[in-house]
Amino acid sequence: MSTVQVVDENKEFNSKTQSFLTQPELEGTGLAYHTVAVFGSQSSGKSTLLNHVFKTKFDVMDNNARRQTTHGIWLGCDLRGKEPLLVLDVEGTDGRERGDDQDFERKAALFALATSEILVVNMWENQVGLYFGANMALLRTVFEVNLSLFHASPTTPESNSESSSESNAGSNSGSGRIPRSRILFVIRDFTAQTPLEQLAITLREDLDKQWKTLAKPAGLENSTVSDFFDIDFQALPHKVWQSENFVTECDNLATKITDSFKPEYHRDVPLDGWSVYANNIWQKIEQNKDLDLPTHHELVAKFRCTEISAEAFNAFSQKTEKFANLEQSIPDFGKELSLLRSECLQSYDNIAGKYQKSVYLEIRKDLEKQLDDVLLGWYNQHIDILKEESIALFKNDLKDKEKEDPKQSSFGERSAAAVQKSLAYFDKHTAASAIDGTHFNADGKRKELVSQLSDISAQLRQQELQKLLKQVQRYFTKQFNSIESIIQNSLDSKTDVFPWMAVKSHALTALEKAQQLYGSDLGVGGDDADLAQAQLALESEMWLALTNKIQHLSSVDVVLQRMRDVFENVFKYTDEGLPVVWGLNDDIDAQAVKARAAALETLPVYASAVINSDGEYLSVPVAVAEFITEKGDEVKEFDVLLSADDVLEIKKRFQRLADANFVEAKRSVMQTNSH
Ligand code: GDP
Ligand code: MG
Repeated sequence: MSTVQVVDENKEFNSKTQSFLTQPELEGTGLAYHTVAVFGSQSSGKSTLLNHVFKTKFDVMDNNARRQTTHGIWLGCDLRGKEPLLVLDVEGTDGRERGDDQDFERKAALFALATSEILVVNMWENQVGLYFGANMALLRTVFEVNLSLFHASPTTPESNSESSSESNAGSNSGSGRIPRSRILFVIRDFTAQTPLEQLAITLREDLDKQWKTLAKPAGLENSTVSDFFDIDFQALPHKVWQSENFVTECDNLATKITDSFKPEYHRDVPLDGWSVYANNIWQKIEQNKDLDLPTHHELVAKFRCTEISAEAFNAFSQKTEKFANLEQSIPDFGKELSLLRSECLQSYDNIAGKYQKSVYLEIRKDLEKQLDDVLLGWYNQHIDILKEESIALFKNDLKDKEKEDPKQSSFGERSAAAVQKSLAYFDKHTAASAIDGTHFNADGKRKELVSQLSDISAQLRQQELQKLLKQVQRYFTKQFNSIESIIQNSLDSKTDVFPWMAVKSHALTALEKAQQLYGSDLGVGGDDADLAQAQLALESEMWLALTNKIQHLSSVDVVLQRMRDVFENVFKYTDEGLPVVWGLNDDIDAQAVKARAAALETLPVYASAVINSDGEYLSVPVAVAEFITEKGDEVKEFDVLLSADDVLEIKKRFQRLADANFVEAKRSVMQTNSH
């Protein structure tokens, strides 16, 4: 891995930092990494040190050209350890040279502290003890910056109470840890003339002095350097003169650094959000604005969690395309979507879970809502499909059952069984459509289905009933073919029974028989009220058929025809049924009178349907009449079958007919005699 310039010499943040940190080797790192930054005077061998210790590839000053390497903050990465190590190389200047560089130094210190756990202060042995040397100025800056970054926010009461109640910095607060950092002094070109312990004491004294003169926030007046920093010292031999030793000591230093990370050093920024965090922080630093790290953490968390959520949702959308436009049900609908839903959340959790918990949870809730909005749409669509399939199943099942054994079972039984089957299908598949983690349910749709099935069933029942009533109709029509002869017999037999009473009896017998024949099928799956209606329908069919028949029989032409038949029967045929041949002695007149009387006797019968001596008429029962009227049919009265005019006309036409027969008879006798 090479290096990247995070902040360039123009103090611009480099957007390539992001891609540097998204190399495959760093994927899934989360919080499992460390950061170390190096400070020190220009050309004090910082880059050389880092390259030796961490095997990074920072530019070092060319020995021959003595050209200075590029200013700015460089980032390298050591992947050899268990966890990746980010290495920041801060290329400042001597600090005394130019005001502008001092400004950069301060900004770089802020940046390094906000991002790094261990700060390596690189210095020559001979720089130790120089109070006003660049290093002490830098460390003073680090101290100040540290207080303002992590401990001093006197304006916010929350952190105020925090710092006053817990003067011992570095302890954990409820919302987040107060970070500590390690300062590691690396003494270069160490000669051992003064023992390291002695140098360490000198440096500590220097640090304490710096600390004492620092303006500290309220509550921290009596704090010491070690309340905030772990201080450590390490000496390195001369790189050229003791090159072998130098290499060994560099390796030891690597181990020492790797082993000295502590949880409270960590800045708690997941690696995938490091670049966003670093960029934000650098912008604030550049604008000389207050660095409010908790807010930064929250901003980064929001930014990254939103990004991670969007990525997770996109992946989910891609994997779930087929669910958007379903045309038929999917057996594993619930299983598949449960898995994809939890996969999506899991992928979010894996990365976003490393960020501030409240932010992570809040955006997770949004993601869940976003998922569930989409899922609910698909779920409802799927349940609708299942509903349609259940209805189709119902219809098919009913059809199949009817084909199998139309006589074996009633429509009601078949329909109830089909409803059961349809609902069982629906229930089974809705259960398999349930999506884990959601509370979608199909109760409403099931109610719709039940009501739809019942509607369809009622419709089919009506159709079935109509079919049945057609049969009933045919039955009555057939039964009523004999009415004419019933009337005639009644007239001929000269009993006291009124002809229409005989007809009524016949009709009621037919009705009874029809009820026996068709009555059991009438209910066809309906309730009692349906059955009562069906029974009325059957009865009304009887009366309608009877009405038809009576209307036909009492029409002018039919009545006339019947009278003609009666007349001719008496006049033209003997009692034995042989045709009459008139002789001279035959009393044609008397015979004609008798025949006419017989014929005329039938006329009143067809003029009104009297059924008894009280003058009562045949009539449709009230309940049936109401039923017929409700259906929009007309209820006929049987008191007047033929109008007075009709009767007159029939009599006139009959008279002519009888006369013609009479004249013909007379003529035939005369002809026979003249021969
Ligand atoms: P930086 O500017 O602090 O990053 O310094 P460099 O790593 O670029 O080194 C500056 C110069 O110091 C180079 O010419 C190096 O060869 C030289 N140098 C590096 N390490 C040492 C060391 O341990 N001792 C001495 N005497 N010179 C060194
Ligand atoms: Mg350098």
